[in-house]
Amino acid sequence: MGQFELTPEQQQMRALAREVSEEFRDRSTTWETSGEFPWQNMSRLAETGLLGASVPEQYGGGGGTWLDAALILEEIGRCCYVTAMAALGELGVQTRVIAAYGSESVRERHLPEVARGEAICAICITEPDTGSDLKAMRTTARDDGDHVIVSGHKTLISRADVAAVFVVFCKIKGASGADEVGAVVVGRDTPGLSVGQTFQTLGGDTLHEVSFDECRVPADHVLARDDGLRRMLSMFNGQRCLNASVSLGIAQGAQDLAVDQAKNRRQGGRPIGEHQGLGWLLADNEVAIEAARLLIWRATAKAGQGFPERHEASMAKLFANEMALRVTDTALQVFGGHGWTKEMPVERYLRWARYGPLGGGTPQIQRNGIARHLLRA
Ligand SMILES: Cc1cc2nc3c(=O)[nH]c(=O)nc-3n(C[C@H](O)[C@H](O)[C@H](O)COP(=O)(O)OP(=O)(O)OC[C@H]3O[C@@H](n4cnc5c(N)ncnc54)[C@H](O)[C@@H]3O)c2cc1C
Repeated sequence: MGQFELTPEQQQMRALAREVSEEFRDRSTTWETSGEFPWQNMSRLAETGLLGASVPEQYGGGGGTWLDAALILEEIGRCCYVTAMAALGELGVQTRVIAAYGSESVRERHLPEVARGEAICAICITEPDTGSDLKAMRTTARDDGDHVIVSGHKTLISRADVAAVFVVFCKIKGASGADEVGAVVVGRDTPGLSVGQTFQTLGGDTLHEVSFDECRVPADHVLARDDGLRRMLSMFNGQRCLNASVSLGIAQGAQDLAVDQAKNRRQGGRPIGEHQGLGWLLADNEVAIEAARLLIWRATAKAGQGFPERHEASMAKLFANEMALRVTDTALQVFGGHGWTKEMPVERYLRWARYGPLGGGTPQIQRNGIARHLLRA
């Protein structure tokens, strides 16, 4: 990478994302307490073109890069975790995988709806007995003439309560490649698809169980059949970077609050930030945030319209997720006992940051991959 500057267009888009996300800040507790999907915020993201940034231009989107999506999600995460999680699928992997591997009819049907904010996309990978160990998944797709039949159960699925489109990871009988793992698009109106139990989370979003009971979908809804695992995992590297961007935004949001508090709260006759012990906490936070940002920018900038490289995506995710835990914890410390109360906004950043190391591949799994990469070299 020759330079570290964003283009004028990216700076403009980032400024727009910041302006729009600031509108979400005051409403962020609404979704946490009601458990409702933030439709109001999603409409705003759609009308400003931010929600469709990852949709190719010929389907009504912005035709943006992974870096563009990372910039937008950082800004949303800075103000409202629930909205960042709501937009993650549309800005991220679901849209990209349909654009890259979907048949023309699947693209034409779903991508314009995504850009207009009319179709929310869920991704269904995790199963009750299979999380990190993808290859052990039990959901299957089998051929049935010019259709495939999808059967299985998924759990901890974001947005399933409102999703119109489900990208379902499953084993495709007879497919070539490692363990027959591939993916199929299943529309919400497909007979046999049902959304079961809802789980409330510490972050304020909800997760859901989804069942596919002999769901019959046209064969051209298969996104990846042969060599599916490799293709799906390379696509998932993009998700790792965007999960990291949300963590980055959460950390930046907490740091902004902490710096403000350190300037304004006085103890011992001076602003608390002027006590060296506290100023150094903020300095360490700043360095860690910037380091995470550079890892994310590098991984996404090199990917362009393709998919990020695994090693770089894993390093970005691992570092950003763990950084956000430390930074939000330190930010709360800056607020003292008041920070622990729900009257102060900083406590919610600490809760929000906890999601990163759980979703989309844990730190242990990232470390396993990074170590394997080193030992192979
Ligand atoms: C907010 C949120 C949103 C989510 N959204 C979605 C979604 O939309 N779609 C979806 O499919 N899933 C989703 N998930 C699920 C998430 O992807 C899984 O929770 C994650 O992959 C881990 O799987 P698991 O929970 O089954 O844990 P397990 O795989 O059972 O792991 C339990 C613990 O063991 C560790 N572990 C497991 N294997 C190893 C190993 N080989 N080496 C070292 N340690 C190991 C893990 O790191 C973890 O700490 C979401 C989760 C969260 C928290």
